[in-house]
Amino acid sequence: MNLRDDIAQILLTEEQIATRVKELGQQISRDYEGKDLILVGILKGAAIFLADLVRAIEIPVAYDFVAISSYGADSRSAGVVRIIKDLDESLVSKHVLVVEDIVDTGWTLRLSYLLENLRSRKAASVRVCTLLDKPSRREMGVKIDYTGFLVEDKYVVGYGLDYAGEYRSLPFIGVLKPEVYGGG
Ligand code: 5GP
Repeated sequence: MNLRDDIAQILLTEEQIATRVKELGQQISRDYEGKDLILVGILKGAAIFLADLVRAIEIPVAYDFVAISSYGADSRSAGVVRIIKDLDESLVSKHVLVVEDIVDTGWTLRLSYLLENLRSRKAASVRVCTLLDKPSRREMGVKIDYTGFLVEDKYVVGYGLDYAGEYRSLPFIGVLKPEVYGGG
């Protein structure tokens, strides 16, 4: 079985992603020059983006990860999204850049209180960098400081993003064929 056979369309090629990640890395390097910077990736989706981004940053940088419980429609209204794997590092006086794969409705960042939580640990600053932004789907206001690409309202996979736990390893970002998720 070849994973690529399930892809209907490639939205962002490996080359387009690499070019943009390099630009983001250069911009972040300029903005955080002389500052104690730590990237905080949200597992699992942001792992691949973070791994490339950190190598495009030319100033000293640390990184760590958090995991957040996923939500269904019910947990959303109940506000039960939680941090299920916390940081190993102290954030005191550090400049934190949260790294996300995609901001869609905005609920993950809001409901997890992640940004408030990180700020309360005496971080010097907390900002957000997302590879993808789907602004047409936003339900909760989230301030994003760095965006890789704006994407239209399609469910995308690859470069860390999954469908039912699969397709994260694809090097590009694409859209699945409808028959893959039972859409006929
Ligand atoms: P939000 O809470 O902003 O609606 O969604 C954020 C999370 O939902 C992302 O971190 C990601 O895990 C998931 N998500 C949202 N849109 C997509 C998509 O198009 N493809 C994939 N694979 N995951 C998505």
